[in-house]
Amino acid sequence: MIIFDIVTIFPHFFDSFLEESIIKRAQKQKLIRIRVFDLRQWAKDKHRVVDDKPFGGGRGMVLKLEPIYRAVSQLRKTKSDRIKTILFSPRGKKFSQKMAHRYSQLQRIVLICGRYEGVDERVARHLVDEQLSIGDYVLMGGEVPAMAVIEAVTRLKPGVLGHSELLGERMPGRKGGGALGFSEYPQYTRPETFSPRRGVKWSVPQILMRGHHQKISAWRQKHQKIIS
Ligand code: SAH
Repeated sequence: MIIFDIVTIFPHFFDSFLEESIIKRAQKQKLIRIRVFDLRQWAKDKHRVVDDKPFGGGRGMVLKLEPIYRAVSQLRKTKSDRIKTILFSPRGKKFSQKMAHRYSQLQRIVLICGRYEGVDERVARHLVDEQLSIGDYVLMGGEVPAMAVIEAVTRLKPGVLGHSELLGERMPGRKGGGALGFSEYPQYTRPETFSPRRGVKWSVPQILMRGHHQKISAWRQKHQKIIS
């Protein structure tokens, strides 16, 4: 069982995500647990302010240090090196399949979602184990990155994926990619031929239709993308 603790100022972002089929089933089966915390619960003033203007000027607002400090102190009360605290940041380390495998061995992951112009830098420097980016582009908050990490990690937990969802991923395993990467090749299903308009046919590669297993796996290898 792995627990994801999400700290966000938009907890409702996760409402439908938590109800999605596989994530929902994985929670029911106690393979994962997702807890969503509203950062405002750790704001002390009566207006529950969690952001402020940046020192030095500039546009936008910055998430304040103290509420996040209190959140992390509470959520990290149990000391264990199988618990990690992550801050989402476009300046962070790029999230990868390898990291997803590493995280899937953890007992708990605390995910801090930034918003606005970002988060007081002291959070990154003193409160978290890792800063994570999900790609070289700027999103509006850490909520979508949190969902990306949760999906990538959850599907690696044994028992989460059913037979029909497992297809499409092959671990290179032996030489080359190593056990932590994955390979993806093109997939087709019925119909064998589709005609979007007269005289045009979109067909499935013949090799896949003939049932010659060696040739099929050679074709797949040729067209696969290995990500490690
Ligand atoms: N001005 C900031 C952008 C902040 S975006 C800057 O350029 O550094 C607001 C929040 O969205 C960030 O604090 C972070 O938590 C999240 N975020 C945006 N893009 C992201 C990305 N590519 N990966 C992970 N988190 C991201």
